[in-house]
Amino acid sequence: MLVSLTLTKSQHGELMRHLFPEDGCEAVAIALCGRREGDERHRLVVQQLTLVPYDSCKYRAPDRVTWPTDILVSLIHEATKRRLAIVKIHGHRGYDRFSDVDDSSDQALFPSVHAWIGDGLPHASAIVLDDGRMFGRVVDETGEFSDLSSVNVVGDDLSFWYPDRTIHNLPAYAHRISQTFGERTYNSLRRLKIAVVGCSGTGSHVIEQLARNCVGSLALIDPDHIEEKNLNRVLNSSMEDAVSRASKVSVAKAAVERMGLGTQVLALHENLFSEHAVKAVAECDIIFGCVDTVDARHLLNKLSTFYLLPYIDLGVRIDADGRGGVDQVCGSVHYLQPGGSSLFSRGVYNMEQVRAAGLYRTDPIAYRSLLKEGYIKGVREDRPAVVQLNGLIASLAVGELLARLHPFRDEPNATFAVHRISLSHGIYEHESEGEPCSMLSRNLGRGDVEPLLDWAELSSVGAAA
Ligand SMILES: [Zn+2]
Repeated sequence: MLVSLTLTKSQHGELMRHLFPEDGCEAVAIALCGRREGDERHRLVVQQLTLVPYDSCKYRAPDRVTWPTDILVSLIHEATKRRLAIVKIHGHRGYDRFSDVDDSSDQALFPSVHAWIGDGLPHASAIVLDDGRMFGRVVDETGEFSDLSSVNVVGDDLSFWYPDRTIHNLPAYAHRISQTFGERTYNSLRRLKIAVVGCSGTGSHVIEQLARNCVGSLALIDPDHIEEKNLNRVLNSSMEDAVSRASKVSVAKAAVERMGLGTQVLALHENLFSEHAVKAVAECDIIFGCVDTVDARHLLNKLSTFYLLPYIDLGVRIDADGRGGVDQVCGSVHYLQPGGSSLFSRGVYNMEQVRAAGLYRTDPIAYRSLLKEGYIKGVREDRPAVVQLNGLIASLAVGELLARLHPFRDEPNATFAVHRISLSHGIYEHESEGEPCSMLSRNLGRGDVEPLLDWAELSSVGAAA
């Protein structure tokens, strides 16, 4: 079982300040983490940090620290009640492995943590280096160690660290990527698991570009089949697919497999609004949202917050009168980070629109009658779209991921929270990250809860409220 650890940029900053004090002595912090208890991967996502005060430690030196474990009592109580993980974190200056002292202190601590909590789930110990890098290990109930499969920080930039540092012999198809972004970025791309939600107009271009950039694995989610009306804008689709009603995810999966670049594809022919699909997305490292409804956007933004996932949202819009008159051709790419601003706080939608879209999806009859009576505003249906606009916005979105993994722009990544393009008005602009979203931020790092994302429709007991 792979176990990974994820934290936000501000949590990482808090750790850096606490773990490397001016006196040069070691310090400790304890993280309470939410979980995604996946079948193939168990993600630990930091929900809350407790910084152990320096003056409460019995002994502090540059290479060791003795801290009062009674600080754990309330944290263990909380972890037991809410199925959270305990992760002990301390800092090393330059020494990039666990020391013998660390081994004996973890072997003394974790068997008792397991005994107290008794959930049989992973708990971990991690180290932050003074250059910011992190690594860690799971410590089981007998004191056995196993490396965390990755540690990553989600902020304006995206950092991923893996225990296996060997540079592989790069295949020829990887040369151009590593020439551009370096072997380290190629190695990160190769290990990433990315969810693409929506595999139609923009999604099919995103999938194509991610696979050609040698992303390790893709989880594709879309409930629809290829229809003849999709053929002018869904990449890799054919008339044969439309006739045989092939699913959009299977067409995309087959195309990626034909490329032969080693990308693994999990094709989920299902709606995002299901427990299964949400869990699959939450097991990934990054989300691309290629959806056209506000309720799906809201769900993905919540998912990004609960599971500390960076979320890149794509939107395209053409206002046409259907007879050749075009008023507006525009698109946007939003980069959302957990604990940051949200699509809601950026004014992309309001909650009334989310409710109307949810009703349209789940109860079309009630939706129609409320619409007729004027109680709700209508959702936009069956909008025009064209392949060249989809390709342009998808390129911006995939470029956004690469720029976050491998910062190369003159201006810092924080100034590219939103890209807007209008082809009808000749506009390209980008906007900076705004204030944190107060509605979503309180859910930071909560991980698995029942119902998932506090979303009644996703209840495992099946009661949709
Ligand atoms: Zn140490």
